[in-house]
Amino acid sequence: MNGYTHMIVGGLSGAIPVAISIAEKKFGFSIGSQHVYYPLIGVLPAVAGSLGPDIDLPNSKGGRAVRLFLKSAITLFGALSLSLAVYLCFIDKLIRPVNVLFPVLAVFTLVCLIRLLLPIAQHRKGTHSGLALLIILLPIIYIIGYISANLLVNILFSMWLGFCIGWTSHLFADTFNRKGVPWLYPLDGKFYHIANIVTGSKRERTFRKVCVVVFCAAYLAILVFV
Ligand SMILES: [Zn+2]
Repeated sequence: MNGYTHMIVGGLSGAIPVAISIAEKKFGFSIGSQHVYYPLIGVLPAVAGSLGPDIDLPNSKGGRAVRLFLKSAITLFGALSLSLAVYLCFIDKLIRPVNVLFPVLAVFTLVCLIRLLLPIAQHRKGTHSGLALLIILLPIIYIIGYISANLLVNILFSMWLGFCIGWTSHLFADTFNRKGVPWLYPLDGKFYHIANIVTGSKRERTFRKVCVVVFCAAYLAILVFV
C-alpha cells in the first residue's frame, strides 16, 4: 500500500481507543499497575508509526523521515546522553555508573545498529515481520516493568504505544497487498496475504474507502454498546 493509505489506516486505528475513551467517559486507560495510556496523545504517533515499516524503502515518505530522524537522533542523543552520563557518574557522583551508562549505551548502540543496517535492509523483510513488531514493543514492556509512572512518563508511554498501533496497522494493511507480509520472518520467509490489491491501483483506493466505512461503523458500535 502507499503512504497515503497507511496514514489513513494508522490514524483510523489510533482513533479506536479514542472512541472507547469517549464511550467510557475517561481520558486514559490504566495499563499495568501504574501507567496510563492517553488515547488522544496516541493518534498522531499512530499516523507516524503507520509509515514506519517502509523505512526499508529509501524513497518512501517513511523511509526518508525515519532516516533523517535516526541521523539526528544519533548525533543529538549520543552527544547529550553521553555527556549527561559522564557528568552524573564521574562529576556529580550521584548515581553509580552502571545504572546510567548501561541503558544509555544500550539505546545508543541500538540506534546506531538500525542506522547501519538500513542500507542493506530488503524491502518487506525485517521491518515487516512480527519480530520487528515485538522489538518495537520492547520499550513498552520496559517502561511498565522498570520505570515509575508520572505525567511525563505516561505522555511518552502514550506516544510510543500510539506509534506501535500505527506500525501494527501497516502490517495488517500490507497483508491485503498481492505481495503480502513475511509475518514469521526470519523463521519462515513466506509472504502471507489475504487479498490481491496492487499498490497504487483503483482497488487500493476502494480499500481506503472500505476502511473508512468499517472503522466508522466500529466507532459507532463502540459508542452504542461499550
Ligand atoms: Zn509496507
